Amino acid sequence: MTTSDKPINFIQQIINADIDAGQVGQVVTRFPPEPNGYLHIGHAKAICVNFGLAQEYGGHCHLRFDDTNPERESEEFVQAIIEDVRWLGFQWHGDVRYASSYFSQLYTWATYLVQHNLAYVCELNAQQMRDYRGTLTEGGKDSPHRDRPVEESLHLLEQMKQGHIDEGRMTLRAKIDMQSPNINLRDPVLYRVKKLAHHRTGSDWNIYPSYDFAHGQEDAIEGVTHSICTLEFAANRPLYNWFIEHLPVPSKPRQYEFGRLKVNYMVTSKRKLKLLVDQGQVDGWDDPRMPTLSGMRRRGVTPTAIRNFCDSLAVAKTDGVVDIGQLEHFIRDDLNRDARRAMCVLDPIKLVIENYPAEKHESFNASVHPNREDMGTREVHFSRHLWIDRSDFSEDSSLSRKKYKRLVLGDYVRLRGAYVVRADQVVKDQQGNLVEIHASLVPDTVGANPPEGCKPRGVIHWVCADRSIECTVHRYDRLFSQPLADSAEQSFTDCLNPDSLEVIKNCQAEAALGDARVGEHYQFEREGYYCLDSGAGNDGELVFNCTIGLRDTWQK
Ligand code: ATP
Ligand code: MG
Repeated sequence: MTTSDKPINFIQQIINADIDAGQVGQVVTRFPPEPNGYLHIGHAKAICVNFGLAQEYGGHCHLRFDDTNPERESEEFVQAIIEDVRWLGFQWHGDVRYASSYFSQLYTWATYLVQHNLAYVCELNAQQMRDYRGTLTEGGKDSPHRDRPVEESLHLLEQMKQGHIDEGRMTLRAKIDMQSPNINLRDPVLYRVKKLAHHRTGSDWNIYPSYDFAHGQEDAIEGVTHSICTLEFAANRPLYNWFIEHLPVPSKPRQYEFGRLKVNYMVTSKRKLKLLVDQGQVDGWDDPRMPTLSGMRRRGVTPTAIRNFCDSLAVAKTDGVVDIGQLEHFIRDDLNRDARRAMCVLDPIKLVIENYPAEKHESFNASVHPNREDMGTREVHFSRHLWIDRSDFSEDSSLSRKKYKRLVLGDYVRLRGAYVVRADQVVKDQQGNLVEIHASLVPDTVGANPPEGCKPRGVIHWVCADRSIECTVHRYDRLFSQPLADSAEQSFTDCLNPDSLEVIKNCQAEAALGDARVGEHYQFEREGYYCLDSGAGNDGELVFNCTIGLRDTWQK
């Protein structure tokens, strides 16, 4: 049944066994984000696992918003999440679903539990409830309201629903077992009073269901067969099953847990990422340094790279930290395959070709991708005035040819896709700063070997100064300087790298980059992978974001 040659993971084993036993016909999974922030790289793994299983077994995967807590949720987050899932390349079955669509059904089931003496309205406040709950080593104490008559609980629950009860005064709790070794089973809360408007149901509700009461029943309503979540919910599973067993639900989903994805130098918690946004530490949720899907998209990371990365990870019952280099490897791998080649000079210095007439102009056809003829060619202009990078020139002719494969005074270098040139002299200002390099070209060397005795040191990139376009380049370093910033609970903001953004103005790009479009990927030759920034507020300035450098050191 599996299509890849990877050994099958424990969830696939379970599904295979379920199918063999005839317990499952069609596999149905779901991705259930809470719309309280933007999706991050950890969610990408959950998306790939859930949608991946549905694809693999010819089943369905639902996109369902777990919007049961209006306090921190919003429509902005809903829309951003929908866009991100689509961008990653997945299509959910049917409409987008919302837990809030099931509020009436959930309420009916809550009254069902009360009627069957399996739930009661409790008047302990939050602190008292904590005191009564007990500890990991000691059992809890029964609430004084635990044995109130069913009719009384039904009445109070209705009062809660009608908005007649103040927040914090009453809760609806399941009647399970205050002595259970599993604290989740010690009469968990099913409903709380919250007099808050909900982004979808408006002011219809004054009470909202807890995650535990909502989640399994939502799965059951949708016919989810395998409800896959992360390890921290393992202790909630007995409660999940308790509801499914005690309610007249239309299907019986099962919950399975796998390890959360953590990547070093990245933070994967919406709450923490929101703090960075709210504090203005970053330029919004889609800041290219953020580990969010929208941030990575704006950075120029491709959805294929993220999917390949997620597929390379084990789906296991343990948590582990993945090296960020592994993600970077897949980013480069995909960009190298598809990125359009272009030239951009980040630190321009004028190169004047003395033996090329001022009024002359040529253009050469350069390939858009060296191994991809299907991507066509681009026009590269040439004239007497060129830009090259300051770091590609040295006056020190004693530099060894092996170490310095660039332009040196008195020596030759090839301009990528154009002529071989020799640097003849330099022009400096009064302070001794280099202003121009004067050079001469070797005739007939475009696409041809230079004559005997003329040995270029290497190949450098360049841009025609008459037709270049000015742009700004953003280069990034890691957002956090500590590998385990995410575990530093209190102080993860102290781990922020103050130099994570480098803004380079007045770069000179080849003319073809004037047509650059958001969503296209470029390799600036010898510099790295770049994309046009989609951010607002660039004020007509052409900004390119560096997705990643050229070198891959991860596999070594
Ligand atoms: P956060 O702490 O960032 O808010 P969450 O688990 O609360 O994460 P949800 O919106 O509830 O976020 O998550 C939707 C789904 O994504 C859940 O099934 C959750 O288990 C999964 N998920 C979230 N973070 C990760 C992660 N780091 N690795 C794998 N799956 C994750
Ligand atoms: Mg959450």
